[in-house]
Amino acid sequence: MSTITTEQMRFWSPEVRELEPYVPGEQPKIQNLLKLNTNENPYPPSPKVVEAVQKVLANAADVLRLYPDPDASELKQAIAKQQKVAIDHVFVGNGSDEVLAHIFKAFFIQELPLLYPDITYSFYPVYSQFFGVKTKILPLNDNFEIVPDDYKQLNGGIIITNPNAPTSIALGLSAIEEILQANPDSVVVIDEAYVDFGAESAVNLVEKYDNLVVCQTTSKSRSLAGLRVGFAIAQPHLIAALEAVKNSFNSYPMDRFAIAAAVASFEDQAYFEAQNQKVIASREQLVAQLSELGFKILPSSANFIFASLPTKDAAELATELRARGIIVRYFNKPRIDQYLRITIGTDEQNQRLVDTLKNDILV
Ligand SMILES: *Cc1c(COP(=O)(O)O)cnc(C)c1O
Repeated sequence: MSTITTEQMRFWSPEVRELEPYVPGEQPKIQNLLKLNTNENPYPPSPKVVEAVQKVLANAADVLRLYPDPDASELKQAIAKQQKVAIDHVFVGNGSDEVLAHIFKAFFIQELPLLYPDITYSFYPVYSQFFGVKTKILPLNDNFEIVPDDYKQLNGGIIITNPNAPTSIALGLSAIEEILQANPDSVVVIDEAYVDFGAESAVNLVEKYDNLVVCQTTSKSRSLAGLRVGFAIAQPHLIAALEAVKNSFNSYPMDRFAIAAAVASFEDQAYFEAQNQKVIASREQLVAQLSELGFKILPSSANFIFASLPTKDAAELATELRARGIIVRYFNKPRIDQYLRITIGTDEQNQRLVDTLKNDILV
């Protein structure tokens, strides 16, 4: 983007001049690139998803002229069935990032501060600034774990990524229940973007806690990052707040392709489960191989690992991998500037990473 001068900025709303937007992981167009930087799934979505898209395409001349269902009820129904909840417990959005934005607007603009860990999804501070949400940041412990006792103080809401990102560490359901019970008067959001890779979902707690919102996405475990479908599960009085925000912003966030394709994904549970098992098995193998090379790796329940090499600067290592066509995510931030976040690829892709490190970089 070209540089905008202060003079040109006079047209901008004053608060927009102050925004510090989220910076997504890069999507470079380099040949033979091994992209292990944005936690995309290395496998294609279910063939049923592709069929469903082709079906919409075949009827494109008829249907694209018409608005989609503003409520996306077919999609909500498919999610309700897969998650074993009633349809009035489901909210859908254009990616879970949009669902999270609506969550911040619907619940967190309070007198008291929103609580979240110092190391977590970096969109939370961005939304907090965007919506004017007060925050109180609570450090993870020395093992990069969330300490439930820290979340037993006055607050205007709590948001926790589980498994956490970029640490990959999962928090058990008993700890989550402890936090829910200590906060009967504030909304507790569990962002489960990576839950399908080995953590326990809090969806089963939704009926028991009237202050719980669970947020998930099709981007990672369903290989649909390009489709933009996320959802939240909560009791109807919380869903109603999200619907009110959504219908004050964009009544038709889910297009016809997104609805049809995501429905097909939720209906093909067998494909989804088999694919997740493959990613988990590849993760365990990669952890073993990298440990042998001297890496320290946090215990992962996600489709990525968070790894450091005591003998080498992490930023340098990321640069050297990049020079060899492998990109991983490096965060130049306090406490984590000696770690790399590495997305789990196929076994062949992971092997290329290991071989490059072993034969080329760490010799
Ligand atoms: C990827 C991710 C999201 C966003 O997912 P989309 O549905 O693609 O918008 C939300 N939260 C966390 C923690 C993520 O890693």
